[in-house]
Amino acid sequence: MWDVVVIGGGLAGLLAGIRAAQRQKKVLLVTEGVGTLFFFSGIIDYGDVEQLRLLPGHPYQLFDQETINRGRKYMEQVCPDYIDTERSEAVLSPLGLLRSGDLVPKGMKLPNLLSVGSVVLLVPNGLKDFFPEIVVPNLTNVFKNGQIYVENLVVEEFQRWFELGRPITSVDYADYWRTQKGHKVLKQAIGKIKEKFSSRLENGEKSVVVVMPSLVTEYWENARRGKWVADFPLSVMEISSFSPSPHGRHLAEYLRHIFQDLGGEIVFGARAVRSELEPTENGYQRCKQLVVQSKGKELILKAEKYILATGGLLGGGIEAINEKREIREAVFDLPVFIPEEWSSPHFFEDQPYAFAGIMTDHQLCPINPLTREVVLENVYVVGRLLAHWDPWIQRCGAGVSITSGFVAGESV
Ligand SMILES: Cc1cc2nc3c(=O)[nH]c(=O)nc-3n(C[C@H](O)[C@H](O)[C@H](O)COP(=O)(O)OP(=O)(O)OC[C@H]3O[C@@H](n4cnc5c(N)ncnc54)[C@H](O)[C@@H]3O)c2cc1C
Repeated sequence: MWDVVVIGGGLAGLLAGIRAAQRQKKVLLVTEGVGTLFFFSGIIDYGDVEQLRLLPGHPYQLFDQETINRGRKYMEQVCPDYIDTERSEAVLSPLGLLRSGDLVPKGMKLPNLLSVGSVVLLVPNGLKDFFPEIVVPNLTNVFKNGQIYVENLVVEEFQRWFELGRPITSVDYADYWRTQKGHKVLKQAIGKIKEKFSSRLENGEKSVVVVMPSLVTEYWENARRGKWVADFPLSVMEISSFSPSPHGRHLAEYLRHIFQDLGGEIVFGARAVRSELEPTENGYQRCKQLVVQSKGKELILKAEKYILATGGLLGGGIEAINEKREIREAVFDLPVFIPEEWSSPHFFEDQPYAFAGIMTDHQLCPINPLTREVVLENVYVVGRLLAHWDPWIQRCGAGVSITSGFVAGESV
């Protein structure tokens, strides 16, 4: 019997699993897919927590401010390559615009903008969804005292792909830079840039910074990362990417390793399909066992407690069951809060369907939206599956997942 089974391997499930495993619990994580971290910029948004806590039913209302802060600190501890910016305009978007972020990878943190003399945008050849012609004017606005230059970098290894019309994504490049060969090619390219700028630097010009997409210096063995970055002849700043996101992907891999290093076990490609319930002494119900489909077989899993981290409509936690737009929670068939209006005709407005999800009590146990009674005593709901919030408009996607994942990991 497991102490805890976590269902879902996105940010919320992984963090919950890590915290529980660190508390000496015997934890199994089952997940069908990789989660939305692969689309995620790598920049952790908490949103305006104070304001969001005033919104009826918002998940932040389930926790006090101190608990939210503890979760945030915990994420920083787990990922020492992240730093807390206190929400300043701290990083560059894929279009070279300033973007705020609450916890950001160190390699993305902007230097003092006024102290930069020259900014060299390094453009790897054939990189999909990267638009230097848009990025350069935006960088001109960001580095007001700086001069912007562009250097193209032709990487032999990708030339053939390029000629064949195969898209070269940020993930492909980020993986390549991590190879010995890739690191050497990048170091040489940066060395050439330094040579070009050497006379200016000797004449007292302010610093030269290389800005580049598709580089992930984080989630790398810490000592090695330090060496890897320090090895570049000029300071290098990373720009965030559109999806597929190398930052999100490496963060997901890093969190999995942390979880496994703590003794947690993972079954990939495993879909939880149903559960069996039993009554408790005080008249409630609890999950007795979980049925999981993996590699064509059904596995029965038993645990004291279950953390449900299956995401929302995108993650697979909520699914449409018929053409009448009826939806259900996919594992325990929990009662779903469904807003009266499903969508708004104004694309950029709040979309009511984003608020659909599972309501819980302060312990994160699911409740019936009508009676407010706890439905399952030993199940904890975390992350995107929670009701009454919109990660995109409220810009608090990772913040809610981290807070709820941390709290569940502490409670189980
Ligand atoms: C395109 C996009 C960009 C984003 N960008 C940002 C950003 O820049 N900053 C930010 O803060 N937030 C961002 N977010 C939001 C943030 O990534 C999410 O809110 C958060 O990661 C949700 O995590 P989750 O673990 O709750 O769910 P998910 O990431 O959806 O994970 C759910 C997991 O459960 C698994 N699963 C589902 N059903 C089952 C089942 N029955 N059995 C087993 N496993 C199952 C899935 O395979 C998946 O692994 C973005 C989200 C998206 C979609």
